[in-house]
Amino acid sequence: MKIICPICNTANRVPANKLEDNGKCGKCGKLLFPGQPVTLTSSNFEKHSAVSDIPLLVDFWASWCGPCRQMAPAFAAAAKQLEPRVRLGKLDTEAEQTIAAKFHIRSIPSLILFSKGTELSRTAGAMPAPAIVQWTTTALRGQNKA
Ligand code: ZN
Repeated sequence: MKIICPICNTANRVPANKLEDNGKCGKCGKLLFPGQPVTLTSSNFEKHSAVSDIPLLVDFWASWCGPCRQMAPAFAAAAKQLEPRVRLGKLDTEAEQTIAAKFHIRSIPSLILFSKGTELSRTAGAMPAPAIVQWTTTALRGQNKA
């Protein structure tokens, strides 16, 4: 499976049965799944949302948004639980306005789940960690049925 390094954005090939083994990036040597969200920018968004073989859950947020800041620890906790099945990433809608506009983000925080470049599901509003995990798991299950 293609897994994108959260640090250097290199595409690593990892056998599906080795995902849980705390693998490291072949290029920079950092953990492929550090248990925390990756910072998404125009330089790595495409790789994580479309090239990667695992789904990407994006938190569209902004520093001025109180509920976003409140949800940040919950999103980080959800990353620990959802990796390595899902990559979690944070997109600053102020710094990356082009991407935010592309996905018509109207309210933040917004969560969008992507898989191979396709939007599977989205929701808006802050959630605690268990709800983020639950929502993501349910959305992925829906995909499997289709
Ligand atoms: Zn790397």
